Amino acid sequence: MSNIAVFPGSFDPVTLGHEDILRRALPLFDEIIVAIGENSTKQYMFSLEQRKQWLIAVFSGEAKVKVESYEGLTINFCQKVGARYIIRGLRSAADFEFEQNIAQMNRDMARDIETIFIPASPKHSAINSTIVRDIIRNGGDASAFVPAGIELK
Ligand code: ADP
Repeated sequence: MSNIAVFPGSFDPVTLGHEDILRRALPLFDEIIVAIGENSTKQYMFSLEQRKQWLIAVFSGEAKVKVESYEGLTINFCQKVGARYIIRGLRSAADFEFEQNIAQMNRDMARDIETIFIPASPKHSAINSTIVRDIIRNGGDASAFVPAGIELK
């Protein structure tokens, strides 16, 4: 059985922090599906198509990476694609508190799916899509925080 993981997120937009987590997770799995969550109650800065294209471009050289989008519960998406692992990055104690609750409740609902936490690299731990969006909204240059080749406009 192949080890498939889902790396869920909004990726609005993809940052160096996301890229780092995914590249570090790659040796652990046979396939990683970067899953862009679409929540109808959430407002995104970038369209789903744009977020998807950026992720495809960033991981184009990685045969093990697929990019998909989903609506609804992450565990339901995992079951649909046959993934037994959810990857989440941890930047801080605040991330941990929040993520631990979600992971525990997900496990109560789906016993066969484990959440794997990967600690942020120190040089990326301050990078956050919300702040990147604020920089863009205010006309600043956020290119230092996103993967090479991503043109934020
Ligand atoms: P979500 O809205 O689901 O938190 P994000 O796109 O903000 O979606 O984040 C997706 C995942 O990437 C989350 O697990 C988040 O903790 C992780 N992540 C985001 N930024 C970083 C970073 N700078 N370093 C490590 N992990 C990160």
